Amino acid sequence: MKSLKELFPPLLFAGGDKGGVACDKSTATCPLCGGRIAPGSTTVTVDLKSGLLIVRDVPAEVCRMCGEEWFIEDVSRTLEELTAETRAKGAQMEVLSYPKRKAAAAS
Ligand SMILES: [Zn+2]
Repeated sequence: MKSLKELFPPLLFAGGDKGGVACDKSTATCPLCGGRIAPGSTTVTVDLKSGLLIVRDVPAEVCRMCGEEWFIEDVSRTLEELTAETRAKGAQMEVLSYPKRKAAAAS
């Protein structure tokens, strides 16, 4: 799993609405603090300098101790794609909901 900082090192992030979905299925621990990580969702804000991308309802694994958010490979790939698309469009501001299934991109 990757953290946002690993995904977009040069970019700035603002944490959003922590999902707060308590689920004991996950036994993963946070590589940073050793706290327990539980599945939830979050709002990802990416500062592209040329614009701003906000993605809502992004599935994330959130550390209960330090609040660090981790993304599974699939999610990080999708976030990278959305970032690239927004950058290519040159949009000033883009607010998206995380695609439930990003199979058919209609554009
Ligand atoms: Zn932690």
